[in-house]
Amino acid sequence: MTSALVDFHCHIDLFDNMSEVIAEAERKRVYTLAVTTTPKAWERNRKLTATCRYVRPALGLHPQLVAERASELSIWHDYLSQTRYVGEVGLDGGPRFYRSMEAQVEVFDKVLTACAEAGDKVLSIHSVRSAAKVLDMLERRLPRSRGQAVLHWFTGSKSEARRAVDYGCYFSVNEQMLTSERGKDLFAALPRDRVLTETDGPFTQHSNRPSRPSDVSAVVELLARYWGTDSDSASNTVLGNLRGLLGDLALDGKPSHSP
Ligand code: MN
Repeated sequence: MTSALVDFHCHIDLFDNMSEVIAEAERKRVYTLAVTTTPKAWERNRKLTATCRYVRPALGLHPQLVAERASELSIWHDYLSQTRYVGEVGLDGGPRFYRSMEAQVEVFDKVLTACAEAGDKVLSIHSVRSAAKVLDMLERRLPRSRGQAVLHWFTGSKSEARRAVDYGCYFSVNEQMLTSERGKDLFAALPRDRVLTETDGPFTQHSNRPSRPSDVSAVVELLARYWGTDSDSASNTVLGNLRGLLGDLALDGKPSHSP
């Protein structure tokens, strides 16, 4: 494959060999959003990606960690002006985490409010068993002119997907999603010009090992099959969508943040 790839949701800092994973993403020209799960991880991610052309760190506070780490929200606020990218943030209503839902909503509300105030942020959002609530909050707190939302590994219903499309969301889809029956069915409801690719590594597997950004080529192959086209053309569609999301200038190949 000759064109650049897009991995819009990867936990690079959870790999033992983080620097190698970054170097490989750079070498293989994978535009990678390096999401973080706690603001304490931000500084290291920022430093290790400071001279990258393709890898961008995102400032996150994962909903699954809110029960223990809600107090780190103040650190998150301190760093917000350093980045355009925010994630992983959102809500998790699954059986292990619904007990902290009240705190999760409080944190996500503040995150969205701060992003709307700052403007021009791009968010990678978790919405497990909480799609309707996430959409309620986006509609209420993040006016479309004030930021961009990307729903990562979306597992809501088709009608929730349509509502997300109407709001203006993009969707980052991964290999696991596109190989499950329910995921495929949902994918069919997504407009082609809102689709981005992701690995969610190391939480997904590729060839029986944790997925790395360049493994996103497998997602592109699947997209090509569903769209009835070849992988170069599918890849170009995803790159075009990334440009649409970020604006042309963000893909000029220069580091977007100072070291
Ligand atoms: Mn994730």
